[in-house]
Amino acid sequence: MNLATRTVLRSAVRNLPRSTIGFRSISTTAPSLMASEVTKVEGDKSINKSGKFEIPYQSWEERELTEGFFDFSARTLFITEIFRGGWMVLMQFFREPYTIMYPFEKGPLGPRFRGEHALRRYPSGEERCITCKLCEAICPAQAITIEAEPRKDGSRRTTRYDIDMTKCIYCGMCQEACPTDAIVEGPNFEYATETHEELLYNKEKLLANGDKWEAEIARNIQADHPYR
Ligand code: SF4
Ligand code: SF4
Repeated sequence: MNLATRTVLRSAVRNLPRSTIGFRSISTTAPSLMASEVTKVEGDKSINKSGKFEIPYQSWEERELTEGFFDFSARTLFITEIFRGGWMVLMQFFREPYTIMYPFEKGPLGPRFRGEHALRRYPSGEERCITCKLCEAICPAQAITIEAEPRKDGSRRTTRYDIDMTKCIYCGMCQEACPTDAIVEGPNFEYATETHEELLYNKEKLLANGDKWEAEIARNIQADHPYR
């Protein structure tokens, strides 16, 4: 390709409407950008509304112009991309896989993971819930229903504690509001059911969850304690 042809080609590409070229983001936070998002153009760079630099998507002709004729021709002639692609596949073949064999293997969960609800007890076996109803009041989905009456010893305990798990949005506000760490969202996320009724939890179900997951729940609360 002689100089005149290259100059004509360069000029033609530069004069293309930017909307026909399209834009490729170099930002890791903006996966794709529309040409309409470009607010300013500086030379070969464009700037979007958030102030990030973008580089225009390059066609083969543009790459030839920007890389230089000989570099571009050498790469095309020796099809180096195929070897680089093959090398990448080879490296991925020998590396440790990203996937795990769920359900036999499980990934790590953070101590703040919000899973299935549970009602906890004190080590003595007494229920932690004191029927303050803060969780019921704060629940944005109105998923919690509590009824209570005083015991013979004058203590306040619930007679009914229901959570409609199909209403719950797992915001965690109930456990944040609870003054005794009675209601918590535990680490269990494997409680899919086949019917709606199975997800209407009552007090017995929640207390059974608490008994089952107490060790993990206590460990998570302890791990999160320094950040509160
Ligand atoms: S996690 Fe949120 S929506 Fe679910 S019961 Fe608690 S407060 Fe209600
Ligand atoms: S679970 Fe906690 S916030 Fe809810 S009524 Fe019982 S003590 Fe109060």
